[in-house]
Order: sequence, then structure tokens, then C-alpha cells
Amino acid sequence: MDTRKAAALSVMEQLEKSGFQAYLVGGCVRDEMLGISPQDYDIATDAVPDQVQNLFPRTIPTGLKHGTVTVVEQGIPLEVTTFRIEEAYLDRRRPSQVRFVSSLKQDLARRDFTINAMAKNRRGQVIDYFSGKEDLLVGRIRTVGNPRDRFREDALRMLRAVRFVAQFGFALEEETRRALIALRSECFHLSVERVVQELEKMWKAVSPSAGVRELFSTDLLRALPPFCRWDLQSFPPDQAASFDHTSDRIVRWAYLLWLCQTDEACLGRRLKALKLPTRDQKQISVCFRLMLAGEWTATDPVYWKRQLLRHGLDSVRRSGQLRRLVGKIMDKDLTETRFQDWWNEMPVKERRELALGGEELIRYSGKKAGPWVGQVLNNLYEQVALGLLPNDKNALLEEGYKIGKVDSQ
Ligand code: ATP
Ligand code: MG
Repeated sequence: MDTRKAAALSVMEQLEKSGFQAYLVGGCVRDEMLGISPQDYDIATDAVPDQVQNLFPRTIPTGLKHGTVTVVEQGIPLEVTTFRIEEAYLDRRRPSQVRFVSSLKQDLARRDFTINAMAKNRRGQVIDYFSGKEDLLVGRIRTVGNPRDRFREDALRMLRAVRFVAQFGFALEEETRRALIALRSECFHLSVERVVQELEKMWKAVSPSAGVRELFSTDLLRALPPFCRWDLQSFPPDQAASFDHTSDRIVRWAYLLWLCQTDEACLGRRLKALKLPTRDQKQISVCFRLMLAGEWTATDPVYWKRQLLRHGLDSVRRSGQLRRLVGKIMDKDLTETRFQDWWNEMPVKERRELALGGEELIRYSGKKAGPWVGQVLNNLYEQVALGLLPNDKNALLEEGYKIGKVDSQ
């Protein structure tokens, strides 16, 4: 058995031996039923956080106010959360208050979707008050209770619904879908970070197209920050299928931006508005710009080899994938195999592979060290990579000396 599961069962056993209830809840029950290995095992109990902390020697007070204590069992951290309900939603995003309760049913009733509202006891029996299993079998995303109420309580659930569609290829139950369409404008309040976090989970799906199609056809995307501030046209749902033709999250982001009619002028601003990590912003930007560059460079090997040197094979390949997604495949020569061939053709792929180092160049030239050394080496490196110079020390010294002299004039 999975060591995390064994640790979870051991924590549950100790809780039960002390007279408390303990259940596996949420995503892990759903995933086990689907035959997927759960991300993590969450435990729900009627013990309050103080009691949980007293019972186990190693605990971390993760979110005491919300009833969550992390218990470290056999070196594995497990979240143990007290049964709770959420009272009065003031800002429609976060519960204003949680109240601990002693009934499992109440705890399950506050959860978002039926497939996420099942529990399992230590003996493997499933507790399913809201027909989650049936919905799981037919592939249906349905809120626990009235969808309008549930979406008004927390607008993020609308995006989560679509995310689960993407993750499992399920369909939105009709009433849930209607409520989503009616209430999507409430998403205006959500933070960009939470929106992006859910979209990232969609990009992890093998075939996110079903979810993306709902994102487009319900017009939810245009209601989400920061997209709601971009003054977008509605999206043709038939373009969602292309998201299944790459598994790369950078390409998926770039393609979404393309569908948002993003051009070079607003690309940087929009990437910033998404608050993605700088590294991702750079990669998406390179992917996007190289895709556009493919327009006019066509199949010029020198241009592409320069880009390969500058950005690496992965980035250039991604731009090729994006070109395919946006439907620009007229120039058959710009395929991924072509990029790979050009990459393979280059005799050096990193500057340290150059048969000449800075020290030798300085000695040979008789000049003082300075920024010129790096510039000359870069120039030589590019010429060798492009096949214009052999990677031979004497040839490089001679050429380097010439460039160095010209530079210092
Ligand atoms: P994942 O596999 O992505 O972790 P998950 O179902 O475990 O999916 P989490 O965000 O980890 O999702 O949440 C754990 C559980 O908490 C959910 O299964 C659901 O029961 C409940 N939950 C999470 N977010 C909400 C929400 N916004 N409203 C109601 N219940 C929620
Ligand atoms: Mg989870």
C-alpha cells in the first residue's frame, strides 16, 4: 500500500481509539474511485484542533482558525481538519466564519461538488449522501445543493467546475451549467492568483479541451480577472480542441493569449497582469514572438540557428508547436523535426565547447582583459555554431585577434 495512505489510516485509527470519528474526505476518495493515485490524503474528524494537537506528538498548526492541523505521521505530513460549516459569506470569496460541528454530513454538505463530497472510513466503506458515486460513474459535475446558492457563496466554484471538466473530461450537469452562465459576472471579485492557479491545474490535464470548451461556451473566461479587463470578443468554442494537441503548459498559455487577440504590443503587459513567475513570462514571450517571427523568416536556417543558440531547442520547438496550433502550417519546412535537424547540425551548442578560452585570447592578443573578451568569444561561438568557422584553436585565435582589433578601433 501507498505509504501516505498507510500513514493516513494510522492517524485515523489513533483518532478512533480516542473516541473520535475520522474519515478520508474530498479529492482522495474521488481519485481512488477513479483508479487515480491521490495527490494527498485529507482527513476529517470531529476532534477539535486542540484535541488533535494533544493526541499526536508531531503537529504543525497549519490553519487552526479553519480547523486544520497537520499531523506528521511516519515522516509524512497529513492534514486533519475538524468537521465544519461555513457561516455568512460576506465578500463572496471567503467564508467569513467557520463553525466546528460534530456531524460528518454537515461537513460534506458544505463541499463544492458531489464527486468531492464523499467520505471513506478506515474499513474502506464509502459514505455518499449526495450521489457522488453516480455522478462519478456517468461523468457529471454537479454542485452539492442549489448551484445558484453555492456559486453565490463562492464564485471560485464556477471556475473549479470547469477545471474538473478539464481534469476528468466530465460534463457540467445542466442546472449547474445554467447557474454558472447566470452568475459568471460574480467572478469579477476573484483574485488573479486564484484564477491562474485553477488554469494551471487545467493545463496539467492530458486533454483539457472539454474544460476549455466550457470556459469559452459559457463565456466564463471573459468574466475572470484579468481577462475581464481586456475587452475581448467571445471565443469560438471549436478552437478549444487545439489545447489537446500539446501537453506543454507554456504553449497552452501562449495559445490562450493568441486566442485573446494578443499582439506583440500588449503581450508583455498581459503576461504581467497574469502575475506568472518571471521565468514563465519569459518563456511564453519567446514562444509567442518566435511563432510570429516564423511569418517572415520562413525557413532561413541561419535565422533559426541563431534563435536556437539564443533560446535553446525547447523554446524554438515550442514556437513550432504554437504555429501548428494557430493554424499556420503552410510552410511545411518549419516542423519540429526540422528544428531538431538544425540543432543537430550545429557543431557547438554551448560557449564552453569552443576550442578557445578567454585567457588564451588575451595572451595571444597582448591586450588587457576587458568586456571585449566576452564579446569576441560570443562572436566566434556563433560563427562556429553556424558553420562559418572551424572549431580549431589556431583559426579561432586568428579570427578573434582580427575582431578584437576592429572592436578596439
Ligand atoms: P486536487 O486533486 O486538485 O487537489 P481536490 O478536490 O483535492 O482536487 P482541493 O482544492 O485540494 O481539491 O480541495 C479539497 C476538497 O475541499 C475538495 O475535494 C472539496 O471537497 C473541498 N473544497 C475545496 N475548495 C472548495 C470550495 N471552493 N468550495 C467548497 N468546497 C471546496
Ligand atoms: Mg487536493
